[in-house]
Amino acid sequence: MEVSRRDFLKLSGAAAGAGGLLLHVSMAERTIAATERLPLKNMGETTTICPYCGVGCGVIMAVEDGKIVNIEGDPDHPISEGSLCPKGASLYQVANNAERLTKARHRAKGASAWTDIAWEDVVDQVAAKIKETRDSTFEEKDGEDNLVNRTLGVASLGSVFPNSEEAYLMSKMLRALGLVYIENEARICVSSAVAADTETVGRGPMSNSWLDIASSDCIMIIGGNMAESFPVAFKWVTRAKENGATVIHVDPRFTHTSAKADLYACVRPGTDLAFVGGIIRYVTEDMVANPDRYNMEYLREYTNAAYLVDPGFTGPADTLDGLFSGWDGSKYDKATWSFQKDESQPDGIKKDATLNDPNCVFQLLKKHFARYTDDKVAEITGTDKNSFRQICEAYAATGQANKSGTFVFSSSACQRTTGTQTVRAFGILQLLLGNMGLAGGGLNGITGAVNGLGCTLQGLVFHWGPGAGSVRMPIASEQSLADYGVDKARLVSILKAWYGDTQHDVSYGYLPKTGGNYSWQALFKAIDDGTIKGLICWGINPAVSGPNAAAAREALKKLDWMLVIDLWETETASLWQLEDCDTEVFLLPAAHPLEKEGSVCNTCRWNQWRYKGSEPPGDAKSDLWIITSLVLKLKDLYEGQTDKNAAAITSLTWDYGDPPDVVEVTKEMNGYDLSGDSLTLLSGPGQLKSDGTTSCGNWLWCGIYADGVNQAQRRGLNDPSGIGLMPEWGWSWPTNRRIMYNRASVNLAGEPWDPDDPVISWNGEAWVGDVADGGWPPVSSSGKYPFVMKPEGRGYMFGPGRPDGPFPEHYEPWESPVSNPMSPQQNNPALVSWETVAKGTVADYPVVATTHRSVDQLHTGSVTRRLPWLVELAPEMVVEMSQELASARGIANGDAVILESARGQRVAATAVVTRRLRPLNVNGSTVHCVSVPWNWGYKGLSTGDSANLLTARVGDPNTGIPEYRSFLCEVRKA
Ligand code: SF4
Repeated sequence: MEVSRRDFLKLSGAAAGAGGLLLHVSMAERTIAATERLPLKNMGETTTICPYCGVGCGVIMAVEDGKIVNIEGDPDHPISEGSLCPKGASLYQVANNAERLTKARHRAKGASAWTDIAWEDVVDQVAAKIKETRDSTFEEKDGEDNLVNRTLGVASLGSVFPNSEEAYLMSKMLRALGLVYIENEARICVSSAVAADTETVGRGPMSNSWLDIASSDCIMIIGGNMAESFPVAFKWVTRAKENGATVIHVDPRFTHTSAKADLYACVRPGTDLAFVGGIIRYVTEDMVANPDRYNMEYLREYTNAAYLVDPGFTGPADTLDGLFSGWDGSKYDKATWSFQKDESQPDGIKKDATLNDPNCVFQLLKKHFARYTDDKVAEITGTDKNSFRQICEAYAATGQANKSGTFVFSSSACQRTTGTQTVRAFGILQLLLGNMGLAGGGLNGITGAVNGLGCTLQGLVFHWGPGAGSVRMPIASEQSLADYGVDKARLVSILKAWYGDTQHDVSYGYLPKTGGNYSWQALFKAIDDGTIKGLICWGINPAVSGPNAAAAREALKKLDWMLVIDLWETETASLWQLEDCDTEVFLLPAAHPLEKEGSVCNTCRWNQWRYKGSEPPGDAKSDLWIITSLVLKLKDLYEGQTDKNAAAITSLTWDYGDPPDVVEVTKEMNGYDLSGDSLTLLSGPGQLKSDGTTSCGNWLWCGIYADGVNQAQRRGLNDPSGIGLMPEWGWSWPTNRRIMYNRASVNLAGEPWDPDDPVISWNGEAWVGDVADGGWPPVSSSGKYPFVMKPEGRGYMFGPGRPDGPFPEHYEPWESPVSNPMSPQQNNPALVSWETVAKGTVADYPVVATTHRSVDQLHTGSVTRRLPWLVELAPEMVVEMSQELASARGIANGDAVILESARGQRVAATAVVTRRLRPLNVNGSTVHCVSVPWNWGYKGLSTGDSANLLTARVGDPNTGIPEYRSFLCEVRKA
C-alpha cells in the first residue's frame, strides 16, 4: 500500500498523547515519510521551530500569497517526527489573529487610555527616556573609588522566546548602556538546577538529548509532569519503555506521566530531596554489601568519592542539629569544607582508593544519608514504603557498568528554597551509579521555553556575560583585564566583537562592573524602593509570573516609565487600567517567531533555524529591528557627549545592514580571526585568543558558522551512532557535542562501559563517535579526567561551593504544615527572603498548595489564552483537590471556590475534585494538597486570578529562585 506523509498523519492522528491532540508518526513510519514529502499544491512551504516549550519541535508552514494558511508537524524532524502538541498545533491561530497588536501605543502619565504612536516618534521618545534616566542615575565610581560605569535606575526583564541573535543584541545594548539589573525567566524557572549541576558536574544544562532517553534502562521523572509539560518529547520515554526500560514518576499528583509509569510514588510538595536522599542511602549501603552490582571503578576514578575531607568537618549526622560545621548564625564559614592536601599527588589532593577512610567523601556521604531510612522517607514525604523500596531497587539496578538511568526534571524540582540542594541530590545519585556521560544517562533538567538556553546564555541574567559563568560580568574590584578572574580570551573576544578597533584594555573599562545582588527578587525590591525608575519588559509578564504577584504589581505602579515589547496587551502593560498607577507606558508591537528568522537553542542544546513564514501584522516589528532602531537613536543622542561613559555607546559596533540581517549577527556570535588581511570565520572556541586577534560574541556559539556554513540550518538525518546523536541536524553547543561528559562513558583505557550503546571509543589514535568532551586521549595515557569543567576533572559529590551545605539536607519549605522530621532546623538556614508578610500558620492555612502548568497553556498565558482553540481546551482557572478534602470543605466538582494564603489575596477558581491528588500521612498527621495552574491573568480570551497572588517572596540562597511549588493556603466554597 502506498501511503503519503499526510496519510500517515491522518492514520496516526488517533494515537493520543497528553491532551488528546498529539499528532504522531512512529519511528518506523519516519523513514518512509521522509522520502515522500509532498508540498501542499500551489503553495510554498517553509520550516520553523515551535516557539513554545523547550522540546523544539519542527513545524512546516504552508504559505500562500504571503499568508500562512496551514501549520503542521515536520515529519523529517528527528525529535518530533511530525508530532505537535495542542499548543504547536494551534500556531495557525497566532499567524491569523485579528487581536494582535498592530500599532505602537503610548499611555501618558495619568491618562485613561492608550494613544497610537508612530514608530519614529516612539523610538525618539523611548530613547530619550532611557538616556534621561540613565544619565540622571549613572554611577561612574562606587564608594571605594572603583570605576563601575553603571546605572541602577533602569532595569531589563528579558524573555526566553526571541531568537538567540536578538537576545545577544539585547545583551550587547543593555551592557553598553551600563545596566546591571538584567534578568529573565530562567532566574525564576530553573536557575537552581544550573547552580546545582555546575557544582556537581561542571555545567548547568541538560547533559543528554531527547532522543537519547530512548537508550535508557530506567527513567526517573521527578519534579515535573513531562507528558503534559513537554508532551512531544515524552514519546522518547515511551520509546524507551517499548525497549524494556522502567519508567518511574515521583510527584504529588497522579498525572498523565504517572499513568504511563511502571512505578509511581506520591510525595508531599517540597520533599523530593528527602526521597532521593533515601535512594542514596539505599545505594551506598548496597554498594558496601554488593560492590559487584556497581561500577566501582567509575565511582573511584571519576568522582571525588576517594577525596579525604578536613577532619574538622561535621554535618547533621554528627550533631543532629541540621547544620554543617561553620554556621555562625547567618552564614557558613567553609574552612572545614575542604580537602586534605597531598603534594605527591598530581592534583595535590589526598585520597583513599579503598573508600574506607572515615574522612573520605564516600564514607561521609554514606554517614550523612544513613538517616534517610525507609521510615524517615515515608514520614517526610508521605509516600508508602513499599513503593519507595521498589523504586530504590529499580533505580539502583542502573549502577551496573553497562546500564544507564536518566534523571528528567523541570521547574517543579527547582522552585524551592532548597531547589539547588534538591538537584544536587539528583546529581550525586547519578555519579554514584556511574550514569553521567553514558547513552541513556545524564542529568536532564528541562528549560520550559523554546529558547530559554539560547537567551539566557547571551548574558540576560545579571551575573553572566554572553557565554555564561566562564564569562561572568566583571565585579567592581576587577578594575583591569589583568584583574578579571575568569577566561580572558573569551572576554577579550567579546570586547573585539562589541568595540572593534578600540583597544580591549580600554573597552574593558566601558563594561559596567557589578557590586551586589541584582537578581529577580532583588530587582523588584529595587523597583519598590524607588531605585529603579524605568523598566524594559521584552516579551515577559511579571505582573503574573512573579512571586506574590500583588506585591509585584504594587512595585510596578511606582515606576516612572515602562517599555513593553509584546504581541498582545499583557497584564504588565495594562496594569494602569486596573490600579491607581501613574506610570508612563510604551507598548511596542512585536513580530511573532513565525514572522522572523534566526536560531533558537532547545533545552538539549540543539540550535535550529527558524525561517520566516509571513510578514508581521500592521506595524509590528522583529526584536532585531526594534533593538537596532533604539541603539542607532541612542548613538545619535550620545554623539559628542564625553561624560557618563558615552563612548560605550558611541563606539559600539552595530553594522548589520539596513534592514538588519540576522545572519550577520549569527556570524558575529560565531566570531572571526582578525589577524589576516580579511576576516575569516572561526571554527571553534579553541581558536580564541586573549591578544585581540579574534572576535567572538559568545564562545559557546563559536562554531555555529564553522566552515562558512550556517550549521543551525542543517537538516541531515544521518546517525552513524545508532543512539540518536544526529550530528548533522542543526548544531549543538559546545562544538556540536551531543552528550556532555562523554569521556565518562568509557573506562580509563577508552573502552565503552556499555559496548552495545557506545557514545565514544578510543581507536588507539582518536576518539570515534560523538565529539569527545575534552580532546585528550584516554585517562590512562593523558591523566585527564572526564568532568572537564571541574578542577580535577572529577564529579563532585562533596560540593564545597554552595552557601547552604556540601551535601543536600532536607529542610521544610518556608511554609509547612509540619515540623521538620529530620532535625530541629525547620527551614534552609541560608534561605533568602524579601517577604514583608509573616509566614502563614497551619492553624489558619492548613492546606499545602503547589502550582503546575497545563498542556494547553504556556507560562502566563499571554499568548495561549488569546487563542480560541486552546481556550476551548483549557477554559478557566481551576484548583485540583482530593475527594477527601472536597468532602471536608463541602465542595463538589465544578463549584466556585476561593483560595487564600497569608499574602492576603483571594483567588477564585473552579474546583476539580479528582483522585489525582490524595491526602498524605506525614509524620502522623493528615496533610491535604491542592494544585493550581499558574497560567492565568486578567487579559485575554480566558481570564482568571493568577496563582502567584498566593506565593511568597522567599528564595533559594544560591540563585534566589522563588518557592512557587510549596506554600500554605486555605480553600473554601465561594
Ligand atoms: Fe513541541 Fe513543545 Fe511546541 Fe508542544 S509546545 S509542539 S511539545 S515544542
